Amino acid sequence: MRPSTLRSHALIVSITLLAVAAIFSLLRPEPQAAQLQLTGRTMGTSYSVKYRPGPDTPAPAALQTAVDALLAGINRTMSTYDPDSELSRFNRMRSTDWVPASASLLAVLNAALEIGAQSKGAFDITVGPLVNLWGFGPEFHPDRIPLEADIAAARARGGHDKLTLRDTPPAMRKHHSDVYLDLSGIAKGYGVDRVAELMAAHGIDNYMVEIGGEVRVRGLNAQDMPWRIAIEKPSPGERSVQTVLALSNIALATSGDYRNFFKIAGRRYSHTIDPATGWPVDNGLVSVTVLADTSMRADAWATAFQVLGPERGMTIAERLGLPVLFIIERNGQFEERVCCAFQQYRQQEIP
Ligand code: ADP
Ligand code: MG
Repeated sequence: MRPSTLRSHALIVSITLLAVAAIFSLLRPEPQAAQLQLTGRTMGTSYSVKYRPGPDTPAPAALQTAVDALLAGINRTMSTYDPDSELSRFNRMRSTDWVPASASLLAVLNAALEIGAQSKGAFDITVGPLVNLWGFGPEFHPDRIPLEADIAAARARGGHDKLTLRDTPPAMRKHHSDVYLDLSGIAKGYGVDRVAELMAAHGIDNYMVEIGGEVRVRGLNAQDMPWRIAIEKPSPGERSVQTVLALSNIALATSGDYRNFFKIAGRRYSHTIDPATGWPVDNGLVSVTVLADTSMRADAWATAFQVLGPERGMTIAERLGLPVLFIIERNGQFEERVCCAFQQYRQQEIP
């Protein structure tokens, strides 16, 4: 055999080996990226982010700093607990003129008004005075039921017709000097969406972001499976699982009166207020879980359905095609009702 043929044989063998190696590397599963977790506190609750880093993802400490700065900025914009936030300053303002609004505040206000209209006023960010009166705001906690006259006065300050928004230039305007807005029913969800965007911007395709029970997931978990999210059984004082969902590329919010409530003379009062009556909701609905494209929408709708109750809620959920799980308490038993595609997100039982 001539040397040149030998060389070409060697070449063919090494090319074949390379090809085989390439095929093997294609077949072999990628070594699994570790799943990392960031946790912290924001908006009076805790947050947690689980993620599988991509090749260009910054170190966890740097990512944590970015998440904390992002959430601090959102709080600084829309918290009613921070007296210097953009929202608190707007709330204190007596003027009924146009006021410049930041892009993030305007985005949340626009969504709030839209969901307010779609929910027929059940979701209403002008309930702030009622929330405070019932002791669920940044102010004191009363030890007795507010006077009807005070409830009526607080109700008179509400209504979405008392607020107008403008996109260019971005601005907001009260129509009564005593309008006071409360974004606590939607801001956590907005925070989740922004953290999710931050993850994606850092090359992270697989994550689960959660702030105080508002969740958004993308991609798959460390086991290459959809993220498993457990819905709690709505019993105060007990922690057990009602159902487990398997989710990817979607947001979820659960709202319930079984954790955040206070008692007067042995009765439970929910932190969700029915704007139509001025009273905390009491309609047998103990927990509602909503799936939506964004966490902001899921969050607001969970509060809206809590107000609407199971019957009116189901009618609206069906009309909008929203996947919802209602859990109703009847004679000490929990009864489930689901809307639309909700059922298909439940974790399949392994036989
Ligand atoms: P949940 O997780 O139970 O929905 P959220 O924290 O999302 O609770 O929302 C509850 C908060 O929303 C209340 O503490 C109050 O500040 C505000 N809120 C209460 N009632 C309404 C309502 N009808 N519309 C909008 N916001 C409300
Ligand atoms: Mg909410």
